Amino acid sequence: LSERLSGVFDRLTKQGALSEEDVKTALREVRVALLEADVSLTVARDFVKAVQDKATGQAVTKSITPGQQVVKIVHDALIDTLKGEGEPGALKIDNAPAPILMVGLQGSGKTTTTAKLAKRLKDRDGKRVLMASLDVNRPAAMEQLAILGVQIGVDTLPIVKGENPVQIAKRAKTQASMGGYDVYMLDTAGRLSIDEELMQQVEAVRDVANPRETLLVVDGLTGQDAVQTAENFNDRIGISGVVLTRMDGDGRGGAALSMRAVTGKPIKFVGLGEKMDALETFEPERIAGRILGMGDIVALVEKAQETIEAEQAEKMMKRMAKGQFNMNDLKMQLEQMLKMGGMQGMMGMMPGMGKMAKQVEDAGFDDKILKRQIALIQSMTKKERANPALLQASRKKRIAKGAGMEVSELNKLMKMHRQMGDMMKKMGKMGKGGMLKQAMK
Ligand code: GDP
Ligand code: MG
Repeated sequence: LSERLSGVFDRLTKQGALSEEDVKTALREVRVALLEADVSLTVARDFVKAVQDKATGQAVTKSITPGQQVVKIVHDALIDTLKGEGEPGALKIDNAPAPILMVGLQGSGKTTTTAKLAKRLKDRDGKRVLMASLDVNRPAAMEQLAILGVQIGVDTLPIVKGENPVQIAKRAKTQASMGGYDVYMLDTAGRLSIDEELMQQVEAVRDVANPRETLLVVDGLTGQDAVQTAENFNDRIGISGVVLTRMDGDGRGGAALSMRAVTGKPIKFVGLGEKMDALETFEPERIAGRILGMGDIVALVEKAQETIEAEQAEKMMKRMAKGQFNMNDLKMQLEQMLKMGGMQGMMGMMPGMGKMAKQVEDAGFDDKILKRQIALIQSMTKKERANPALLQASRKKRIAKGAGMEVSELNKLMKMHRQMGDMMKKMGKMGKGGMLKQAMK
């Protein structure tokens, strides 16, 4: 794949903005990459279309090719799609005892994942966990969980022969309440493929347990089939998240993207081996890199963009040291601050500015204010930004109105601009801009 893509890149060497043709050419290959990574046809088509709209017309960073730029855009869009809401790996397990239902096909890794997750909850969150196997179909399935329980130091529900899954689930619930457990996990039986009997069994268990989380365990190597499985389980049982196992293998991870797109449910964890600690929270970045198989290009583009930013910062420093500090510079600063974790974060990094950071904090500065300030500057004309001295009453009114704010807010921004300009001048004299440059890195 990489070779084919670099072939495309070689042909795309124009600089400037991405043309529709550039984007189309690169995306054709990206589409193949997605399909090869087991992303389903419809998901790949929709995804590529969305990227196409977004990418056309974007400026191409110098020193990389349009094709590479497209890959970066695709990569970022993949991450956006893969990312679920909320904290990755978070589980709803308040209101003890919280039931977690584990579902999936046979051999997908349910029992292993049940134990891994129990261990994680115990070790990381200090939870008391009870595990119960509802697998009455496979011989020794219950013993398998019991053995894992001993290994990781988590209790399992005593095995009673002859019970059905619903009876076991009820007993687990009672035991969990009486025993003061925070969480109880129900490891269900799977089938080789989805059938009516399996679904009815899982439904019955779900109805008695009322799980806080229903996690679908899917073998990451099964690719396309996994998407069908996820869709079926979600329609019938209603899942709250997915665990993708065997991601230590050479699966490309495309199923993750399709599953997310088809079910809308977050992928919460990935299994990375047979050992009990081989479970990690899902990281969209990793899977995105895997799907495209082009981590190097993404890194290259990021590096190129960083270089541009550094170049711009350098230019700004030089001008500021000379006492030139216009609204474009301020805007760049504000944007940089947003990126670097807000005003306090940035000032905290500058030597000798701890006190100012404190003042800024007291003044209630946060990201929202930074964004409002940027909006004000955006509402200025090119001329006004380059020469803030132009900003008289009528212009101020227009700018504030354009940004949906009061003139007083603009006045504050202008005052800050003046103060910063003065400060920059002083700092420029002190260390030829070196100090500030250091802090910007
Ligand atoms: P179940 O039928 O869904 O309960 O599946 P099991 O938990 O019994 O797992 C079936 C096999 O897959 C076992 O040999 C596990 O050790 C293995 N397995 C489970 N998760 C992973 C994983 O993330 N990576 C690898 N390499 N093997 C796994
Ligand atoms: Mg099992």
